[in-house]
Amino acid sequence: MKAAEDKAAVEAAVRVFNPSGRSAFVIVCDHASNHIPTELGTLGLGPEALVSHIAWDPGAIEVARILAERLDATLVESCVSRLVADCNRPYDAPDLVLERSEMTAVPGNADLSAKDRERRIKLAHKPFHDCIAQVVSDRLEHGWATRLVAIHSFTPVFMGVARPWQVGVIHDEDMTLAHPVMEALAAEKQINVGDNEPYSPADRVYYTLDRHARSLGLEAVMIEIRNDEIRTEAGQSSWGNRLAAIFDGIAGHAQNENKEIENREGGTIQPGAGGVRRQTVGR
Ligand SMILES: [Zn+2]
Repeated sequence: MKAAEDKAAVEAAVRVFNPSGRSAFVIVCDHASNHIPTELGTLGLGPEALVSHIAWDPGAIEVARILAERLDATLVESCVSRLVADCNRPYDAPDLVLERSEMTAVPGNADLSAKDRERRIKLAHKPFHDCIAQVVSDRLEHGWATRLVAIHSFTPVFMGVARPWQVGVIHDEDMTLAHPVMEALAAEKQINVGDNEPYSPADRVYYTLDRHARSLGLEAVMIEIRNDEIRTEAGQSSWGNRLAAIFDGIAGHAQNENKEIENREGGTIQPGAGGVRRQTVGR
C-alpha cells in the first residue's frame, strides 16, 4: 500500500500539457501550483498564506497554458507548492525548503532532517525534473528543435520594496532568445521591462533552465510577470497572447536558421543542433 501511495504521489507531482506539441518551444512552469501533499498538512500555515505568492506564482500557469495552446507547445507544470521544495533551486540550496518565506514563518519547514528533505525532493522536485529531462531528451532524439521558456510571476512588493517592472526577462550570457523578447516587449510603450530584474541567474533562480537547457547547449529564457498584471482572466489572456505573438515571431527566425544548418551540413540536423545555438557559453 505504501509503495502504491508513493507512486501516486510522485505521479501527481507533475503534469504535461499538450505532450505532442509541435512548436520548438517547450514551456516549463516551476511554481504553477500551491498544492501541498496531504501527508504534509498545511505546513502550519493559515489559508491566506497558502494562496499567496509564497506558495506559488499566481497567474503563471494560466498564462503558460494560453502560451502553450497558441504556440502548440508542450508545457511541463509542477503540481506541488514551492513551499514543499522549490523546483527552481539546486538540491543543496539553503532555500530549497524555506523556513521563512519573505515575512512569513513556515512552521512545517522548520528543522527538517536530511530524510525529510529527501522526502520533499521526492514529492516535488525530482518528478518535475525527471519529466522535463524526458521531454527534452525525447525531442533531441528525434532531432527536433528545442528551446525552453520558463514562465513565472513575481509579487509587486517584496520586503516592502515596490517593483516597477511589469515583466522581467531573465537570461544567462546567451541572449539569442532574451534579446528579441526584450526588444518586442520594450516596443510596447506602456511596458516597463526588467533586464534580469527582479532577479538574475546570480540569485540562483536559473536552476531549471541551467539544468535542462544550458547544460545541453539549448536556448532558453525565463519570463517573470508581475502578478498584479495577471490576477484576472483578462490579464492572463492579454499576457498569454502577447507572449505567444512574440515567440511566434522568433520561431519563424529559428526555422530559417535551421534551414541554413541543414544546407551546410548536407541535410542532417544533429540532435542538439536543433537548439540553433551558435556559440557555447562558459560554464
Ligand atoms: Zn516562480
